[in-house]
Amino acid sequence: MSVAALDTHPVPACVHGLHALLDTVSTAAWDGLDPTEVRRLLAEIGRAEARLSAHKMAAARVLEKARKAAANGDGPRPGTGTSTGATISFDFGGDRGGADALVNTAQRIEEQTTLIENALASGVISTKQADLISRALAKLPDDVTPEQRERCEETLLKDAQKLTLKDLRRRAARITDAYKKTTDEVDADEDEILRRREEEARKKTSFSMWDNNDGTVTGRFTLPEAQGAMLKTALDALAAPHQKVGTVNAATGQMDEVGFGQTYPQRLGHAFATLVEHLPADRLPTNGGVSAVVTVNLDLDTLMGGIKAAGLSDGTRISAGEARRLACSAQIVPMVLGGTSLPLDLGSANRFFNRASRRAMEKRDGGCTAPDNCDRDARWTEAHHLNPYAISKTTDIRDGALLCPFHHHRAHEQGWVGRINPDDGHVEWKLPGSDTWQRNTRWRP
Ligand SMILES: [Zn+2]
Ligand SMILES: [Zn+2]
Repeated sequence: MSVAALDTHPVPACVHGLHALLDTVSTAAWDGLDPTEVRRLLAEIGRAEARLSAHKMAAARVLEKARKAAANGDGPRPGTGTSTGATISFDFGGDRGGADALVNTAQRIEEQTTLIENALASGVISTKQADLISRALAKLPDDVTPEQRERCEETLLKDAQKLTLKDLRRRAARITDAYKKTTDEVDADEDEILRRREEEARKKTSFSMWDNNDGTVTGRFTLPEAQGAMLKTALDALAAPHQKVGTVNAATGQMDEVGFGQTYPQRLGHAFATLVEHLPADRLPTNGGVSAVVTVNLDLDTLMGGIKAAGLSDGTRISAGEARRLACSAQIVPMVLGGTSLPLDLGSANRFFNRASRRAMEKRDGGCTAPDNCDRDARWTEAHHLNPYAISKTTDIRDGALLCPFHHHRAHEQGWVGRINPDDGHVEWKLPGSDTWQRNTRWRP
């Protein structure tokens, strides 16, 4: 292998030229530009990045080849890293995962594609698009001919211009339609690709969670796409932005409480907490005799409105109000302790309002019964016991009222007193500091 003299080689001259050009303009220079122009230039920079990444890949391939040659005792070893990725990340950036991906993609593009390298080097597609297309081509069936392969590549390259990455990935799964005759054949190929993807996804699936020791836990998970979509859909529904929660301040006319958190991630977080509380814990399998159901242990006094904190069966301490709310409606079993700390009542699934009474309450209440103006309709409410079940032993709807999770928290935290109006049978509340019965006039004037 001959190595060209540095002073005449075009690559170092180009790289030095790039740096020299960038030195002439500071990032503050963007401030004076028209936004339309900024937008155009930003896209141009994206193209320049794609072109540079083509060069990075070409460079990575040279290093990888040199490393392999050195391993065969042929030539000096480039760098001291354990791999080309390690060497590249050591030289700049420290991103080992990114450098390994660069080496892999560079090799895959060289082995699997004929047009991608040029498309990337001329700024027609981005690195991610190039990566995705090369992966799709690598998954083509073994019996594909070179002509068919090229047709697939051309099609994907064209489709990349108009599709999002996600849609391009879907398109790639059916790419054999570029040359296969029947839909059945294409279906079979797509099915095979999806089957392998799902198998890979199952291998990568994981969940971990750790205690922040400040009353919160933080977690991290990887789920297969399908379950991820289910989770996202459920959370989005529970966190729907139009489901605004609040009370109108009489003086200002503004919403005083805007539910639990206002940003999208905060709303999703509370939606996740709601989802966890609504798991059908009674029906989950037991783990070698260990129950999947958490019990909340609270004093009779706490249940009746006292302030003594309570505990969950795993030792977690919770406030009296939270304990009352959980004992009221969530899929959690309350263990009510008398004065001698002996269980008085172990609640069971029976303490929940059944479907029929739940439907009757939905019809009666219309939505969250909190006064005033809460706009959560019946689908997003929890059934609250006006008297704790452990005392009343009834799931009669005359003992129930619908509240959204936010107001359900409030009701237990602040000790709202509720009743069914004896005249028209609708739910009314006395809020702390108030002596009048109020209702949610949105649903029941
Ligand atoms: Zn309740
Ligand atoms: Zn509400």
